Amino acid sequence: MKKVFALVFAVVGLLGGTSPSSGQTAELEGRRAQDGKKQPNVLLLSVDTLRADALHAYGYPLPITPTLDALAADGVLFEDALTTIGKTGPSFASVFTSLSPPSHGARRNGISMRDDVPTLAESFLNDGYETAAFVSNWTLRARLARVDRGFQTYDESFDAKRNMFGAHERKADSVIAAVSSHLDSRAQSPTATLKPLFLWVHFTEPHTPFDLHEGVTVPQPPQNARTSGWVKRWRYANEVAYTDTRVAVLFETLGRHIDLDSTIIVFVGDHGESLGEHGYWGHGKNTNWPNLRIPMMIKGPGVPKGKRISAPVMNLDIFPTLVELLSLDKPESPTAFEGQSLVPGFSNSLPTDRLRFTVGDRHTAFGSSARVNFENPKEISLQSTTLKVTYDFSSKKVVYYDLSTDPGEARPLTAPPENTKPPWRRRLSDWYRALPKFEKKSGQLSDEDRRQLESLGYVGGD
Ligand SMILES: [Zn+2]
Repeated sequence: MKKVFALVFAVVGLLGGTSPSSGQTAELEGRRAQDGKKQPNVLLLSVDTLRADALHAYGYPLPITPTLDALAADGVLFEDALTTIGKTGPSFASVFTSLSPPSHGARRNGISMRDDVPTLAESFLNDGYETAAFVSNWTLRARLARVDRGFQTYDESFDAKRNMFGAHERKADSVIAAVSSHLDSRAQSPTATLKPLFLWVHFTEPHTPFDLHEGVTVPQPPQNARTSGWVKRWRYANEVAYTDTRVAVLFETLGRHIDLDSTIIVFVGDHGESLGEHGYWGHGKNTNWPNLRIPMMIKGPGVPKGKRISAPVMNLDIFPTLVELLSLDKPESPTAFEGQSLVPGFSNSLPTDRLRFTVGDRHTAFGSSARVNFENPKEISLQSTTLKVTYDFSSKKVVYYDLSTDPGEARPLTAPPENTKPPWRRRLSDWYRALPKFEKKSGQLSDEDRRQLESLGYVGGD
């Protein structure tokens, strides 16, 4: 572990660009002291492949997520949150840049995001924070999505043992042990603990394969409720229930080192999982709600307790929200944030007329083929709270849903909705055209990366 840190620090030192100089740090600390303001610690806790409706706080019928439900009760829960895309690397690139996949460039797993836009972790670093990340999904390896930018520590160690599918699955317990060991070493340094901490911790358990865990058993549905695919859905619920127990262990571990009551905690899923809806098992390829709807919550100083916000939000909003909540310097960027701060929603209501743009795409990002980098994504969509339009670039098919009567997107409209000006199809194409699109070649996948991505199910095109 120490070796990993040493290496990361060495690389950061070599690059020289991401870390503020000691003079700058002293200046920042001086400014903070003058303000009489001590910045709180911030935890970004994320869980892979977590459907919003798998949490009891979001309506799952059984109380299988008591820790996350308690977190929701202690802060703000966003009832209608979407990710920009159902893919791990691209979704986190959206969290860290507040840009959608065509704009940040990490359009598929294995493709890096652009390196000229500021990241959330850099904002914390520039504000005098210590930044550390502990990830568990292969697609988040630093050299792939490049979401490590701004993290002084980026722990991406994977278990040596492969599971039956040949994947190095990093277990939540291994992630927690790494966090714990980092905080132990930090406690040995009297100066390190003076800095506030920005921690990103990511668990991957709910991702396939859906394992069962000793000591955690969700009751099986009664015979008369066993519809096709119920075993997979039940196994998925077990993974979610188990993950909740790991969140409890993480909080216990963190609580030994930092005061969690005064810590800002942001909880988010990177994407959901289609469990047979729309004829699809998995995530990433379409823009339907099962793989786009995510749980999203925030709690801590300055955040009301027990508030549920129903206005439409996105994972793009996390960066601008933290900038406003913590008075971080607004980063200078060649592109503006696509998300918006949700802080106004803490005391008032947020706008409900927001339009949200999302993407579904093929999995393949293999090789250095320029083809996958310069074509359009597979599918794009735009939605208000009442209407949704999707466009498939290969089949040229346009599909409309009336979300006011069909929130499950089960009954596509047979004709375009009338009386919308401009027509919805044009609104979607205008939106896509206006994005500051950025293309970048991948070409960095090793044979091992390719094997790992395949083992996660990320193979093939359509
Ligand atoms: Zn994921």
